[in-house]
Amino acid sequence: MLHSWSKSRPYTPIAWTCRSLIFLVKLYKHGEFSLLLKNASIGSAIDIRGPYGDFKYESNSFQQITMFGIGSGIAALYPIAKAIVDDETELTRVHLVAGFRSVAHVPLQKELTHLVNYWNFKCTLQLSQLNGM
Ligand SMILES: Cc1cc2nc3c(=O)[nH]c(=O)nc-3n(C[C@H](O)[C@H](O)[C@H](O)COP(=O)(O)OP(=O)(O)OC[C@H]3O[C@@H](n4cnc5c(N)ncnc54)[C@H](O)[C@@H]3O)c2cc1C
Repeated sequence: MLHSWSKSRPYTPIAWTCRSLIFLVKLYKHGEFSLLLKNASIGSAIDIRGPYGDFKYESNSFQQITMFGIGSGIAALYPIAKAIVDDETELTRVHLVAGFRSVAHVPLQKELTHLVNYWNFKCTLQLSQLNGM
């Protein structure tokens, strides 16, 4: 949960170390918090609470996992898929089905292309507009 400018919004980190967090934030045209984040200067302080939730995953507990997400919802799925693919002992296959308006709206393209190089990761993109911007 990020808190600043007297406002709070939940976000899902897509990567983290003990010293840093990386977020994937959709910028809404009139979105209060995302616009404040976009315009924040380097060095601005943002308070953080969490993480919340107790998603538990046990290695090799499924043969196949299919994940469905739309838009910025991919932020919750990508780190789980990456952790499975990065684990050399994992035999679980991951199929990520993600919906976006157009190819231009697909985030993490480099990261997803990298995961697709592994035999146990497959990604299907569902686009609602072929030429959408
Ligand atoms: C558990 C959880 C995890 C999340 N993780 C992420 C994440 O990783 N990345 C991410 O980008 N988002 C994530 N979100 C969504 C995020 O918390 C914010 O809701 C999102 O960024 C929008 O916030 P905002 O203040 O920018 O926009 P808001 O000001 O809340 O507005 C959102 C949209 O609604 C429209 N709107 C606002 N008020 C009105 C109104 N009165 N009438 C009509 N339209 C209106 C705005 O124009 C805009 O398009 C998550 C949400 C949850 C619940």
